Amino acid sequence: MNKLLELDAFSVAYGSVEALHSVQLDVREGEIVTVIGPNGAGKTTLLCAAMGLLPSTGSLTLAGERIARPTVETMVARGVALVPEKRELFGEMSVEDNLLLGGFYRWRKGQRDQKARMEEVFQIFPRMRERREQMSSTLSGGERQMLAIGRALMARPRLLMLDEPSLGLAPLIVREVLQVVSSLRNHGVSVLLVEQNARAALQVADRGYVLETGAVALSGAASDLLHDRRIIDTYLGIG
Ligand code: ATP
Repeated sequence: MNKLLELDAFSVAYGSVEALHSVQLDVREGEIVTVIGPNGAGKTTLLCAAMGLLPSTGSLTLAGERIARPTVETMVARGVALVPEKRELFGEMSVEDNLLLGGFYRWRKGQRDQKARMEEVFQIFPRMRERREQMSSTLSGGERQMLAIGRALMARPRLLMLDEPSLGLAPLIVREVLQVVSSLRNHGVSVLLVEQNARAALQVADRGYVLETGAVALSGAASDLLHDRRIIDTYLGIG
């Protein structure tokens, strides 16, 4: 499988404090890759820097093209989308209008496929079709997460980066959301999934990276990590 995203010696500092130290990570086409790790390990920093929202050093390669200085604009133009931890929906706007905004960059570039994109999102999240006219601030937590993912999919990304989609959701809803995330590979979308819910994430991912204090402590097939003694003791607990 071709590598879609490759980070090498990827580092980020906040002033004199290094939050990410020489990370090596890749996502191949069609893969779901998860990054797990404790609070403050640098997971959000990793996604924000890979999206061009924070300055980084080291190298970032997308589908074989080295991106010298990643900016949001270059990353969006190359098919990368980020669903931030706080969802960042427009609460006073309807589900449909939130979705339309997700495709803004495409429409601005002259693409006129809003209806087709929205239809695809509605197929992935049928509940969004039912609620298309509802104000997004009145959606349930799970529905808001689905809308945030749907909005990112409107941009037709090749790589979707998700920051803790399970945050604040009941276990049953977490499973539902992550099942949809794992089905995205059938729609030609690769996923980089940051999660504190290590078990749920490893269950849907192909591979995983464990980030601890800004560095990759361990990586491998998700099925191997699920059975790794250290991972079980530190991140999975009983159950
Ligand atoms: P969590 O799961 O709690 O969101 P995380 O793994 O996503 O944690 P980050 O939010 O990336 O971790 O934070 C990594 C480190 O960088 C932490 O020590 C944090 O305090 C620090 N940090 C994050 N944002 C800033 C900032 N704007 N300025 C200074 N330090 C920051």
